[in-house]
Amino acid sequence: MQNNFIANEPVASASGRTLDVIDPSDGQVFDHLQRSDASDIDSAVQAARHCFETLWRPMAPADRGRLLMRLSHAITAHGDQLAALEQRDCGKPTGQARADVLALARYFEFYAGACDKLHGETLPYQEGTSVLTWREAHGVTGHVIPWNYPMQIFGRSVGGALAAGNTCVVKPSEDACLSLLRVAQLAAEVGFPPGAINLVTGYGHEVGDALARHAGIDHISFTGSPGVGTLIAQAAAERHCPVTLELGGKSPQIVFADANLDAALPAIVNAIVQNAGQTCSAGSRLLVERSLYEPLLERLGALFSGLCAGPASMDLDVGPLIRATQKERVLGFLEDAHTAGIATVAQGSVVPEAPPGGFYAAPTLLRDVPPEHRLAQEEIFGPVLCAMPFDDEDHAVQLANGTRFGLVAGVWTQQGARQLRMARRLQCGQVFINNYGAGGGVELPFGGVKSSGYGREKGFEALYGFTTLKTVAIRHG
Ligand code: NAD
Repeated sequence: MQNNFIANEPVASASGRTLDVIDPSDGQVFDHLQRSDASDIDSAVQAARHCFETLWRPMAPADRGRLLMRLSHAITAHGDQLAALEQRDCGKPTGQARADVLALARYFEFYAGACDKLHGETLPYQEGTSVLTWREAHGVTGHVIPWNYPMQIFGRSVGGALAAGNTCVVKPSEDACLSLLRVAQLAAEVGFPPGAINLVTGYGHEVGDALARHAGIDHISFTGSPGVGTLIAQAAAERHCPVTLELGGKSPQIVFADANLDAALPAIVNAIVQNAGQTCSAGSRLLVERSLYEPLLERLGALFSGLCAGPASMDLDVGPLIRATQKERVLGFLEDAHTAGIATVAQGSVVPEAPPGGFYAAPTLLRDVPPEHRLAQEEIFGPVLCAMPFDDEDHAVQLANGTRFGLVAGVWTQQGARQLRMARRLQCGQVFINNYGAGGGVELPFGGVKSSGYGREKGFEALYGFTTLKTVAIRHG
């Protein structure tokens, strides 16, 4: 049985209600967690506020940094345990779970070094007046986290918020809590004061909503679906609480005829099968210059045919989807493709060892997907890549920008001037040229435009969002 973690103590929910924890690889219940409510959020916010006022705010930034670095080391030291928890809880193949642990440790390392480097400025103003700006922590920050990359998203959002001097109340996804509950314990073990990091588990409409509405939360970092992002932003707007929204995507991979396909093809495959396609920045649309379209689909089809999905412990290309409804959603999109006469170029396989109760979907490459079809417009959140041809640069930009999302784009071309023109014209928060490192690189600011959200996390840029700027003007004598 898992408990909430408040003020460095494991705590049961006030109501005593619980939820099942299900292994996506076989569909079996293997643990339980607290189904909390608004009263548990209130306890966590009080603990975080007390810590902020009495311990965290007065602490020298360099000392905060040392604590973050100790947590980074502890995460690395417990890497096998954290990866095993993530593998069972989220169905991540071993290699992907380990990569998430490394990323989590790296976030805390990066933000450890940033704590004492976040400073304001002095500004020229009137004779006899000195003006300075201070970067101040918001106070208590709320973090609502999805199930697809719990450790990475905790690292980038909680790591940044702590470094900026905030204390945190975290609401992980009801589908993926276990690794984060262990990380919160590790933080306590390495010396984080009680109340610096608090975790409250439960359903979004109960716990997440209570967090967004709580008057004691001074900033909300939400990562999740556009629909829930709207609800969070509306709740926060009621009390003028600042929000960062990291939402979905329908990111294009744009391949020109002069692309280096030896580099492009493995990256294109990885960008859609990583985490079974359940990635906000998944390269889920493939736009190919018409003269290259057929040869590229032939080579890519051969790669897709060889892909295997199976239990997380087998460490194959693709693990299970997170839950039964997610599998139904992905299969529903494939059914729509069939109904619309959209052709499948190639499909990988689900291995025979996969337990029948697990949530598997075979990696699939579709061709000539009409740009306005929901397959090309909505997040499928599964290992399904939608290919379509383009005629020239203008057409590529029109297709790439032609969804409501704007998170990431990949561009594959050798022409330098075209690389920069494309980067300028694409509506998104990150552009990768001749690589697709979306999600990687803790130093690189990340976030979207349009329905992919607003605000930036990762990198030093995130620290500006986790602070507020105060201007001080001093008239001398
Ligand atoms: P989700 O929106 O269903 O849930 C996200 C979190 O919000 C969960 O903790 C959930 O419990 C909570 N929640 C649900 N309803 C709520 C409510 N009414 N009030 C407050 N909180 C509520 O998203 P998901 O299915 O967990 O994750 C997948 C989505 O997240 C996809 O759209 C994906 O693109 C997006 N995502 C975005 C990024 C990014 O950085 N832009 C990263 C990862 C995932």
